[in-house]
Amino acid sequence: RPNTRVAVVTGGNKGIGFEVCRQLAVDGGVTVVLTARDEARGAEAAERLRALGVTDAVFHQLDITDASSIATLVYFLDTRFGKLDILVNNAGVGGVEYPQELEANDGQFAGLDSKQRLEWMVKNVREPIDAARKAVETNYYGTKHVTQALLPLLQSSKEGRIVTVSSEYGLLRLISNEEARRDLNDIDNLTEERLDELLGKFLNDFEEGDALETHGWPTGFSAYKVAMAATNAYSRILARRHPMLRVNCAHPGYVKTDMSMGSGVLTPEEGAQRVVMVALLPDGGPTGKYFTKGEEASF
Ligand code: NDP
Repeated sequence: RPNTRVAVVTGGNKGIGFEVCRQLAVDGGVTVVLTARDEARGAEAAERLRALGVTDAVFHQLDITDASSIATLVYFLDTRFGKLDILVNNAGVGGVEYPQELEANDGQFAGLDSKQRLEWMVKNVREPIDAARKAVETNYYGTKHVTQALLPLLQSSKEGRIVTVSSEYGLLRLISNEEARRDLNDIDNLTEERLDELLGKFLNDFEEGDALETHGWPTGFSAYKVAMAATNAYSRILARRHPMLRVNCAHPGYVKTDMSMGSGVLTPEEGAQRVVMVALLPDGGPTGKYFTKGEEASF
């Protein structure tokens, strides 16, 4: 077993995830396993990390929606390290269909500032049901399945930590569906079965179109918001179930990445700092919490 702490970061090939890898290694002295669903993109990112002086960076393939990919990663970690100290659930999708050709759709895009890009994005993204399903499958179920599979290795750590990169889009106040908001907040009684049921209802309503609004689900990046709220709730369930672990959520802020089409106000480096800070809190710190701007806030 290595003396240093070992971390796994999902979706580590770019954006916030890549920066989380770099900062955990450089600022935290952690041995980082950078994972990515695409072998070539992941290997290239690990190479970039090494070029930045992180000589012990390891790459391993991981598609968080693929059970056999998850199992292969678990086997690798078990044989190579025999434990896992930090899991950063960073991988996620926007739940929308981004316009394919920015220049073709709007030749001015490259010249737009952050605010204009956001306006343009909100106007031009579409939310087909397939993208909504994908957000629920990836952001909620993918995150949950990876976490479940890595729990035994996290329990072999002195103090296993799980940090889920969350979003203020997942805050409960955005959900006016009373039943969903109440149950997502009732952590003492909330079960995974109930979460499945709520997500099923949401997707059914999504398919029906106008049922989304009449049933009080958020609109505009709708699936992303609901999946994030469910992921936040799952993180709280886990914290309750595993008091020896530290299980928290961190909102990175509004960050310039591919997901935001370069429209954020923070750099990936600044966004990642807010995640890494939670991952590296001193032992015995908070659990079951949500952090925004590096401070505890309500879900
Ligand atoms: P990016 O689009 O730059 O990065 C997303 C990462 O997730 C990529 O590495 C992508 O891989 C990976 N990914 C997507 N699906 C899967 C999958 N099935 N298995 C493994 N990896 C996958 O976005 P960000 O860096 O902005 O997003 C990182 C996290 O931060 C997300 O969870 C997002 O929801 C959250 N967030 C972002 C905010 C922002 O303003 N940008 C605000 C709040 C939260 P690939 O390159 O192969 O597509």
